[in-house]
Amino acid sequence: MINFRIVKNRRGKFSIIVTCPKCGREGYLRVYSKRGEEIRAFKIVHEKFNRGCHIGINSEYFEELFELHKAVREFEKELAYEGDYPSFRLI
Ligand SMILES: [Zn+2]
Repeated sequence: MINFRIVKNRRGKFSIIVTCPKCGREGYLRVYSKRGEEIRAFKIVHEKFNRGCHIGINSEYFEELFELHKAVREFEKELAYEGDYPSFRLI
């Protein structure tokens, strides 16, 4: 289980902060590579200038990050109102 938390940025989008399974530091989860709508890789950005850890589709961690990312994006779409957002966990 990868630890994560969600923060809302100025544009009202959610950013996902995860504890990196590779190096143990926190970082922003970003989609790094896409083919059409299909996500091929993530990057966990630890510092400015996009430094971070790369998690490709063949990584053992990819599936979990993929599910997390999908769940948060769907959650974001459902959330049409401004205000408190409930904490939730990926089961
Ligand atoms: Zn890392």
